[in-house]
Amino acid sequence: MEKSSQKSVMETIVSLAKRRGFVFPGSEIYGGLAGVYDFGPRGVELLNNLKRVWWDANVSMRENWYGLDSGMFKNPRTWEASGHTSGFSDPLAECKKCNTRIRVDKVLEAIGVTADEKMSEEEINTLFDAHRAEIACKKCGEHNFSAVRKFNLLVKSNLGDFTSDEAEPVYLPGEASQGIYLDYKNIVDSMHPKIPFGVAQIGKAFRNEISPRNFLFRTREFEQADTQLFIKPNENKEAYESLKKERMEWYLALGIREENLRFKQHENLVFYAKDAWDIEYKYPWGFDELEGIHDRSDYDLTQHQKFSGVDLRYVDPKTGEKYTPWILETSMGLGRLFLAVLTDAYYEDTVNNETRVVLKLSPKIAPVKAMVSPLLKNKPALVDKARKIYEELKKDIPQIMWDDNGNIGKRYRRQDEIGTPFCITIDFDTLGEKPEMENTVTLRHRDSGEQERVHANELASKIRAVI
Ligand code: ATP
Repeated sequence: MEKSSQKSVMETIVSLAKRRGFVFPGSEIYGGLAGVYDFGPRGVELLNNLKRVWWDANVSMRENWYGLDSGMFKNPRTWEASGHTSGFSDPLAECKKCNTRIRVDKVLEAIGVTADEKMSEEEINTLFDAHRAEIACKKCGEHNFSAVRKFNLLVKSNLGDFTSDEAEPVYLPGEASQGIYLDYKNIVDSMHPKIPFGVAQIGKAFRNEISPRNFLFRTREFEQADTQLFIKPNENKEAYESLKKERMEWYLALGIREENLRFKQHENLVFYAKDAWDIEYKYPWGFDELEGIHDRSDYDLTQHQKFSGVDLRYVDPKTGEKYTPWILETSMGLGRLFLAVLTDAYYEDTVNNETRVVLKLSPKIAPVKAMVSPLLKNKPALVDKARKIYEELKKDIPQIMWDDNGNIGKRYRRQDEIGTPFCITIDFDTLGEKPEMENTVTLRHRDSGEQERVHANELASKIRAVI
């Protein structure tokens, strides 16, 4: 089995994603909008499956974990308390010849120089000046850039009285997790959880990224799946280690290959953080961040207490002890997960002497679980029987698809490209041409291309066994 060459993998995946209805460029008929993508009919099924398995593992199948879906618009003070209005920025410079913008920390990183997030504008300018000669504009090749300035990533919007000059701007969420801090007290008062307890949320985030790139990896609108574990002060070490372990195991259970995943510890911690690690995936351009796991001390709740004036301390129901909980956070970008899953599942191999493209997605997340089709579409008896089997299965199992376009070989190849684990074909034997074969169908397995003859009554249990 051959993995396609790394160089062309990205282009191949972007093209497959569009051709097969997974991901479309946003606003394409108007020439697109940089850093925005739409999930098409297959993509939204895959995305929903990813969210569901994440939600199951982090909420439904856990004790003392609670789900949340907070409003995207928040009181603007939220983003002051969190530090986003003042400190949520990336260093930007512009090519003086063609105006292309570069994100200076990433460009420096590419030549092996680390720009610390805490650096002032002056410090980063000095660092950039020292390396200017090594950095060329990727569009025109010039080395002539403007001074570096810090560019705030929050996306401003209008809400309510937006015609008044005095109206405060509202912001689209820069990250999903703030909603969890704002509702922390409501969750404690309504659910009475005992510490340690966790809250999970999937939510949209918007960032004015300086240079969106690498398809779904760095976009301006994306979704994050976040968890916050509330713990007693100083009881962070062991809980943090098990959180890291659980998150890595979750990716492996999703079928992502171990050699394509790794941990990376942050070298420069923000002042309040006790520890920070990323889980990285080996994207076509190399290992890069997929999820952040952060030991954040009591920073978030302390800030929101200070800015809101509301007491957010936890009262131990047994001892009456009062304290501001510490927080361990996990934050995963769903777009980055989607891209990792597609990349990891993409194969070009040979089955029955024919080369094919196949997505070996875990059946749990495959957007179509099984495709049902009649061997020939111009034989009414075959079509009727196939429709009956399709309709029965569809009642029982979601994401079953009907396909009678083109010949059977073409249908199989189409399903391989969208990662469908099973293809079910109804032929003359199903109708009872040979009495002992009546009601049996051909079940084709995606990964091996092998076919077996099974009774139609067994289909649902065979499919359910792997999803
Ligand atoms: P980066 O250093 O790559 O900009 P970050 O450290 O700012 O990422 P966080 O703020 O920790 O990212 O966000 C948590 C997660 O959200 C990331 O691990 C990533 O999966 C996802 N994410 C962040 N920015 C983007 C983006 N622009 N597009 C898609 N996903 C993103």
